[in-house]
Amino acid sequence: MAIDYPITQEQQMLVDSVRMFVEQELAPHEAEVDKAGEVPEELGMHIKSKAREKGLYAPNLPESIGGGGLDYKSLALLERELGKTSYGLHGFIHRPSEILMACEGEQVSQYLLPCVTGEKKEVFALTEPGAGSDIMAMQTKAVRQGNEFVVNGSKHFISSPVIPDFAILFAQTGTTSTSRGDRKLVTAFLIDADTPGFSIERGPKCTSQRAYHTWQLSFNGCRVSENQILGEEHAGFDLADKWLKMGRIWVAAAACGKMERLLTLATKWAADRKQFGQPIGRFQGTSFKLADMATDLKASDLLVMSAANKADNGIMTNEDAAMAKLFASEAVGRAADNTIQIYGGMGLMEELPIERIWRDARLDRIWDGTSEIQRHIISRSLLREHNG
Ligand SMILES: Cc1cc2nc3c(=O)[nH]c(=O)nc-3n(C[C@H](O)[C@H](O)[C@H](O)COP(=O)(O)OP(=O)(O)OC[C@H]3O[C@@H](n4cnc5c(N)ncnc54)[C@H](O)[C@@H]3O)c2cc1C
Repeated sequence: MAIDYPITQEQQMLVDSVRMFVEQELAPHEAEVDKAGEVPEELGMHIKSKAREKGLYAPNLPESIGGGGLDYKSLALLERELGKTSYGLHGFIHRPSEILMACEGEQVSQYLLPCVTGEKKEVFALTEPGAGSDIMAMQTKAVRQGNEFVVNGSKHFISSPVIPDFAILFAQTGTTSTSRGDRKLVTAFLIDADTPGFSIERGPKCTSQRAYHTWQLSFNGCRVSENQILGEEHAGFDLADKWLKMGRIWVAAAACGKMERLLTLATKWAADRKQFGQPIGRFQGTSFKLADMATDLKASDLLVMSAANKADNGIMTNEDAAMAKLFASEAVGRAADNTIQIYGGMGLMEELPIERIWRDARLDRIWDGTSEIQRHIISRSLLREHNG
């Protein structure tokens, strides 16, 4: 079921070329990397160089610095196709964090440009063991000493398919009084992985996206220069917020890709598999599931593309992003569950991709803000209008 949203010829060509890339270069490896929980280094390098050849690397950053310069609608279409396969694999077609566009002076050649060429890989380090949804509970501190900061604390669940070269670290750098009491001030820092006092370890194994890793970052008396501040001192949250909501659109778009794949598999199986002398798709218990999946997919696509369109026009709200992420991530969970039901026992066998997509889809309701946090964003915006 192709996306039912008006797209340009150029965007259709992008979809066709990414789809072919996924089918030829990524999908054939998805079962093996899931089983191994790793992408072999050589394969990762191969994907990266093929992606660069095809102009798919750093697609989100401006052409003026060597990126793909795609608009948000095109990026959503790209993520939709990539989302059909494992993050472990398409993580090598890196979409650097747009927050790096805040790099200034030497930071540009040291951090931003190497991420565009693929020489360096960053991680976005916000979450802590005690600060997940409640990011204001952050304990990592960076204390100013002259021209330097001393960083202490830890981050977890920080994801990347490979060990990062540097972290975009969010740390508390002070407090300010507000009418609601003291509020933490947070600053973003660019910290090289080999900085003394900074250590990186593999995080626990995750059942979703097994070939995509999380890392634990520890900072013990790690000294960083004030030149490593990304953006303004104490303005880390504003900087993160500017880009964070787009992450929700990418999760939602990738969920649409998974849904399309599930719907294709489920429909074919329902047409071919016979029980009681007829295709199981003739039983409404089966066919109505297909109808629900198709409707969910269309609604998710429309939410994603509408939000991306608004982002292209500079008018996307937090609620637009939250609605797209909430609906699509929950819809892909329903679609994966329904597909397993339609396949019966075969749906749970590792020979088929369905149980893997089911496991992978579970993560979509958690990362980039849980479903409850998306509902919180949406409901707050409704109540705010009534001072509620
Ligand atoms: C594989 C993976 C990769 C990740 N990658 C990154 C990364 O690269 N960088 C990064 O910074 N983070 C990353 N994260 C962290 C991710 O964003 C958090 O896991 C997520 O925001 C939820 O935080 P938490 O896991 O601490 O859950 P918690 O915040 O502890 O939430 C537990 C439960 O309580 C609910 N809850 C919490 N507060 C409320 C509330 N106010 N109202 C209603 N319900 C509430 C939640 O919805 C959830 O159901 C990653 C996580 C995973 C699993």
